[in-house]
Amino acid sequence: MERGLLFAIFAVLSLLALANAAPSSINEENFDQFVVTPVRYDGDQMWSVSFTDDQTRKVIKTLNEEFDVTLWANNHAAADVLVKQSAVNKVREVLEDNNIQYSVQIEDLQKLIELEALPSKQNTATKLDHPLTWTAYHSTEDIFKFLDYLVEKYPNLCSLQTIGYSVENRPLKVLKISNGNSGNKAIWIDGGIHAREWISPASVTYIVNELVENWESQPDHIKNVNWYVLPVHNPDGYEYTRSTNRMWRKNRSKGGNNCFGVDLNRNYGYKWGGEGTSSNPCSDIYRGSKAFSEPESAAVKNFFDNTEEKKFGAFLTFHSYGQWILHPWGYGNVLPDDHEDLARVGKEGAKKIKELDHQVYTPGNSAALLYPAAGASDDWGKSIGIKYSYTIELRDTGRYGFVLPPEYIEATAKEALSFVFTVSGEIAN
Ligand SMILES: [Zn+2]
Repeated sequence: MERGLLFAIFAVLSLLALANAAPSSINEENFDQFVVTPVRYDGDQMWSVSFTDDQTRKVIKTLNEEFDVTLWANNHAAADVLVKQSAVNKVREVLEDNNIQYSVQIEDLQKLIELEALPSKQNTATKLDHPLTWTAYHSTEDIFKFLDYLVEKYPNLCSLQTIGYSVENRPLKVLKISNGNSGNKAIWIDGGIHAREWISPASVTYIVNELVENWESQPDHIKNVNWYVLPVHNPDGYEYTRSTNRMWRKNRSKGGNNCFGVDLNRNYGYKWGGEGTSSNPCSDIYRGSKAFSEPESAAVKNFFDNTEEKKFGAFLTFHSYGQWILHPWGYGNVLPDDHEDLARVGKEGAKKIKELDHQVYTPGNSAALLYPAAGASDDWGKSIGIKYSYTIELRDTGRYGFVLPPEYIEATAKEALSFVFTVSGEIAN
C-alpha cells in the first residue's frame, strides 16, 4: 500500500515535471509525446535580432507573447532569441514586415545539442585518478570525484566542505585551497548558478585544476589567498539540463502554477524583487517567494554569515554567454562609491585576455551595459563588503550561445583563469 502510494505520488510529480518541461500543457490527445523525454529542439533556431528603436523591442515582446519566442541574451544593440521550428516562417514575416534586421545563428538547435555531447578529442585513457577532462562537459558526480581526488592528493592544501543541500538534496560542495598562512586574503568563486551555462562549471573546475596541480610554481599573489570555490551552485538544474532539458536555467524547486524553478541569480538578498525579475513562477527570471527562499542561495549566505574568514577581497561568479566582465550595481543604473576601482580592474582583466588569445571581453557596469537585474549574487557580494565583485559572462558572443561546443572549453577556461589572476594580483597589492 505504502509503496503503491509512493509510486502514485512519484507518478504525479513526474507528470508535473514533464508538464513544466514541455512546451505546452498536457491533454489526452498529446499525452504520449510528453511521456518521452528529453525535451527536443528539432529545427528550432536561434536568431540575433538587431535593436534599432523601442518599436523593435515592442515587436520582440509581441513575438514572445504570440509565438513563444524566448530570449537567450540581450544588450542595447541586439537580442538573441530562440524561435521554434513551427513559428520560423511567421516570425520571419513579422520581422520583415517591420524592417527589422536579423541573422540566423543556429539553424537547428537539436543538432547542435547532439554535437555538443561528443567530446572534442578522443578521451584517451588518462593516468589521472579522477574522471574530469576539459574536452567534454561532465556530470556533477564527475566534478565531485575530481574534488575528492584533490583533497586526497593534496591534503595540506585542499579541503572540502558541504555548505548545504539543493532542493533535490544534492550537496553544495565548496573546495578550499589554502597554504594556511595567517595573513592570507580570500577569494570566492562560483560556477553553474544558471543550469544551462555549461561552460561555467567547466571553466571553474579548470581554474581549480590549474591552481592546485601547479601550486608550487604559482606567484605569491595566488599562494597568499584562501580560495573558496563552489563549482556547481545549482546541481539540480545542471543535472536536469543533462537529462531532460538542455535549455533549463533555474533550480528545480516546485513553484505555483505547476511551474518549477527559481532563478537563483534573482533570489539573493540585496534589493531583492526589483527590476529585471519576475513574480511569475513560470518565468525564467522568477525571483522566488522571498530573498534567499532557495536552499542553494541560502547556503551561500549561511556560509558567509558563519565563516571565520575576514578578508574576502573578491566575489567572482561565472556565467555564459556574451563575453562581458560586469560589476555592480546590477539592480539599477547606480554605481558604487568605488566604481572606478572596479572599472579599472575589469578593464585590466579584459586587456589581459585580449593579450592572451585576442578574444574581446567588454568590461563595465552590468545595468548600464546589459539591463537591470535585481537580486543577483554579485550585488549581494558587494553589499556585504566584498570589494571586487564581478559577474563574468564567458564565451561566446552569440554564435553558439549556451551550446558552446566542447572544443572551446579549454580556451574559454584559460580566459576565466586569466581574469582570476588579474583580480588576485590586484588584491595582493
Ligand atoms: Zn547566467
